[in-house]
Amino acid sequence: MPLHHAWLDDVRPNPYADQLSSGFRLLRFVRPLEAEYRQYMSEDSFDLKRIALSVGMVLWLAFAMLDFSLIQGQQLWWMQGVRFSVLALLLVCGFLMAQRKHVHLLVPLSLTCIGGLGLGAAAVVAIAHTVDTTYPYEGLLLVCMAGYFLVGLRLSEAIATSLLVLMAYVFLELLAGLPIPRLINNVLFLLFGNLMGALGCYLLEFKSREHFLVSRLMRVLADHDSLTGLHNRRSFNRQLERLWRQAQRESQSLALLLCDIDHFKAYNDCYGHQAGDNVLQRVGSVLADAARRPLDMSVRLGGEEFAVLLYDITDEQARERAEALRGALEKLGIRHERSDTAAMVTMSVGVACMLPAEEGAMDQLYERADRALYEAKAFGRNQVVA
Ligand code: GH3
Ligand code: MG
Ligand code: MG
Repeated sequence: MPLHHAWLDDVRPNPYADQLSSGFRLLRFVRPLEAEYRQYMSEDSFDLKRIALSVGMVLWLAFAMLDFSLIQGQQLWWMQGVRFSVLALLLVCGFLMAQRKHVHLLVPLSLTCIGGLGLGAAAVVAIAHTVDTTYPYEGLLLVCMAGYFLVGLRLSEAIATSLLVLMAYVFLELLAGLPIPRLINNVLFLLFGNLMGALGCYLLEFKSREHFLVSRLMRVLADHDSLTGLHNRRSFNRQLERLWRQAQRESQSLALLLCDIDHFKAYNDCYGHQAGDNVLQRVGSVLADAARRPLDMSVRLGGEEFAVLLYDITDEQARERAEALRGALEKLGIRHERSDTAAMVTMSVGVACMLPAEEGAMDQLYERADRALYEAKAFGRNQVVA
């Protein structure tokens, strides 16, 4: 199944876009993405699993009732024994699933439920066939279909479970002495049913994987600036709120560096908008290098205004980082003959550092950095004011 995402050509390289471009016909992503997808599937299919398990138990009980009208004698009680054991297994799995803390157990528990149901159904059918070879065996297919479509298993897991159930069925029917032509007929029917289930499951998993990649990619695009690849203002606001609360809890400081390119309008007027865009990209990579720790963030706030948010840092360190940034841009030596400040592109930086646990509101961090930036501009640009 080819993926015709022509628009991906215009997207900056990132793991989701790369995976979409390279495809995943064998239903497998590259390593870190695969783990992320499985985690997402576990959480996404949680409610589906719970509903499927409840429906499965009700159906299982209904079929147990039906057995009383189909089979008599000792075999009936053997069948009820099997049904009861499977029901007990489902109840234990359901109990563990309901406590959401065992998320990593969701897949093994689902496999146990489907496997238990399938093996139980195979045993029930085989026992019934020792006295009545017309006892319906098609319920086995229902269990396999549940594995393919209802519990959020991956195709490989669903196929493995179904094969195990089918093999157990053949073995038990041989033990029970079902006539071979009848057994062949039953197995062929189950195999064809499984083939259709597996095909449907493949298409479903392919679409589910595609949806996962596209939705994650959309999130990346919504949170990042397309020109520089830095976070955008929306993402910055969210991260600032999150970090502010974390800094309050952990009594850590938070620093904001507001950066604004000097005389950028003149640069555009002199060298053209495209050259201006190139400068923005180069400034973007200088800033990206400044925020390498997990909680730090560099942002393009808009136009030629950037910000760097730094967690757990002293006033002095924040000032040094700002000075390093300013120096790094100056060192790039991008010619700017219309600048009143220097012969190259420069920027002014306003720095604010706060201890959220002790000081005022979150807005103040931005206001202080903005005031410092204003002063840096007023004092002659290409400098840091803290
Ligand atoms: P100052 O030193 O006071 O900051 O002066 P300035 O010219 O840099 O500031 P001003 O706010 O007057 O102008 C900002 C300019 O940035 C205006 C606009 O043409 C340019 N600009 C904004 N966004 C983009 C963009 O995405 N690409 C390009 N090439 N230019 C942009
Ligand atoms: Mg500006
Ligand atoms: Mg400017």
